[in-house]
Amino acid sequence: MCDPGASLPLPLRGAGQRADRATAESRGGRVPVLMYHSFSTEAAPAFRRFAMPPERFRAHLDHFDAAGYTTHTYAQLVNAFRAGTTLPGRPVVITVDDGFRDFATVGLPALTERGMTATLFVTTGCIGSTAHFLTGDGEGDRPMLGWTELAAAAGAGIEIGAHTLTHPELDRTRRAQLRTEVAKPKLMLEQRLGVPVRSLAYPYGYYNRRVRDAVENAGYTSACTVLDLACGPGDDLFALTRLTVADTIGVPALERLLTSAPSRRDIARAHAKRMVWRQVRRIGAGGPVMAAARALRDARTGRGDPAGGAR
Ligand SMILES: [Zn+2]
Repeated sequence: MCDPGASLPLPLRGAGQRADRATAESRGGRVPVLMYHSFSTEAAPAFRRFAMPPERFRAHLDHFDAAGYTTHTYAQLVNAFRAGTTLPGRPVVITVDDGFRDFATVGLPALTERGMTATLFVTTGCIGSTAHFLTGDGEGDRPMLGWTELAAAAGAGIEIGAHTLTHPELDRTRRAQLRTEVAKPKLMLEQRLGVPVRSLAYPYGYYNRRVRDAVENAGYTSACTVLDLACGPGDDLFALTRLTVADTIGVPALERLLTSAPSRRDIARAHAKRMVWRQVRRIGAGGPVMAAARALRDARTGRGDPAGGAR
């Protein structure tokens, strides 16, 4: 269900080959934006890689602290890019997609206990209900955050962003529905929570020019996708890239993810894969072409799970 160009991990270089204390400045202003989903040890097989064990998530946060990282919201990063400034020290942006209830019970306390922040992208049609959009993954009953929990998160300094109304593949959504999927969540969240909602995360990372324009026309000032690259100044603010944090990523792998510096060739390859995957989806979604493409991708990556890097 996901874009392999967006989800295939780029070759990671050993930490010893890089400056251990690379700052945003020393990395040309590039900042890693991490993408989490659920915080739980319980998950159906198809969703397993999106459910981060709580202990592991807390270990990630402790690593940020020990290694001198500072957490920022997605809006703070966008503001810095827009202003042409660099976030100080070793910045990292934590984003959490979908709005599962375990953010309130695991994610939020872990962050606030450490004085850290994050950005939560919420699927507004599922607020106070369950993850209907995950029915195909056997996770349709997964509990989602309610309005009271969202208000508590916003009150604790967590940035609230939008993740559409029903979590569709936006690039395959008809024009009228696209407008609703993009515009309504912003209105709902702003009216109920009284906070500005500036950013949207594309479900599955899927977007095209039409989707990008709809997001901008709805009043957002930025949007993010998934491409397993740190984003940097000069990137399209409506297509900032994020790094997938799968459930199996422990602290050493996390540090490699944070400090990996993909070459121009890696970046070109990632973009090329995304373009190829777009074409495959366009001509054969759900059909044999798609199945063959997934099989090829999984064979190359050693993944048994056909799920991609984002939900
Ligand atoms: Zn999602």
